[in-house]
Amino acid sequence: MIQVLIVAEHANGRLNQSTAKCVSCALALGEGAIDIAVLAADCAPVATEAAALQGVRRVLTLERPENSEPLAAVYAPQIAALAKGYTHLLGPSTTYGKDLMPRVAALLGVGQISDVMAAESAYRFLRPVYAGNALVTVEAAAGQIVVATVRTASFQPAAGGGQASIERAVVEVTLPVHTRFLSRTQAAAGRPDLQTATRVVSGGRALASAENFKLLYGLADALGAAVGASRAAVDAGYVPNELQVGQTGKIIAPELYVALGISGAIQHLTGIKDARTIVAVNKDSEAPIFEVADIGLVGDLFQVVPELERLLRAERT
Ligand code: FAD
Repeated sequence: MIQVLIVAEHANGRLNQSTAKCVSCALALGEGAIDIAVLAADCAPVATEAAALQGVRRVLTLERPENSEPLAAVYAPQIAALAKGYTHLLGPSTTYGKDLMPRVAALLGVGQISDVMAAESAYRFLRPVYAGNALVTVEAAAGQIVVATVRTASFQPAAGGGQASIERAVVEVTLPVHTRFLSRTQAAAGRPDLQTATRVVSGGRALASAENFKLLYGLADALGAAVGASRAAVDAGYVPNELQVGQTGKIIAPELYVALGISGAIQHLTGIKDARTIVAVNKDSEAPIFEVADIGLVGDLFQVVPELERLLRAERT
């Protein structure tokens, strides 16, 4: 029988929606049991949320002071020990999962299947390659644990209303001391989280400076949207790295994606492949972004964005 262990992602005592999406992926594997592992210094609030996900049998808590920060080096040996006996180990294909899961796979002596978009069976998976330009079906060897990351943009979150049991787990492992938590720097945005937002306004190199990039915030706030950016905008220092959308940034699936002064390079498009409606503003009518945009406007964003914001706010009053 399939036995799936999912590694929960959480922050500030709240379960990240990526975990509920991993549960949906686990349900697609076939008949079996699904457990969720929560690692934290205080697991209770997150474990309670995880236990409410439908389809989950048990939530296993690994509670110790060393787990207060999600350090992959510290979490990995504990998860590897806990995963023994399971047929599948899943984590989200987010920054957290991409950092953690390969370490766990290495400790378990197996390869990792990355970015699972769909499960055709318990051992056959669909995943993107070449920045999403091609999809391949891969088959994992049965008889050894399958370690996989789940492309969160490809799955709906599992519903709530479940009543899984919560159990304390104990693993005997020596934690590494070569990696220590020093500090966390977080932009106090007050805007929706880019990874889970239903609307996203993104800017590219065209913004030309960090100062100009602030133009987008007004429009984002008028739309109740999160802010994203192309890698060119991030590399140029207009915005922090955590706002990058694309192959080497965040893969997102909002209802609305507004691309402002973004050319539409394939590495950017791979991050918005699952966006429902794409709106693009670019002064070059030949820009590749127009090939994927549902609504395109050829124009100068420095004129279009303030006008859009004005109209949106006027609509509200
Ligand atoms: P540009 O390509 O320079 O486009 C700027 C656009 O703005 C142009 O189309 C121009 O016509 C338009 N413009 C200029 N002025 C105005 C104006 N006033 N009004 C309106 N439009 C205007 N990129 C990502 O975004 N995310 C990734 O995760 C990512 N990962 C990568 C991974 C690898 C391995 C590699 C090789 C590249 C990656 N890239 C990624 C980079 C990618 O190839 C592009 O270089 C990048 O996306 C370009 O960003 P941009 O569209 O902002 O800039």
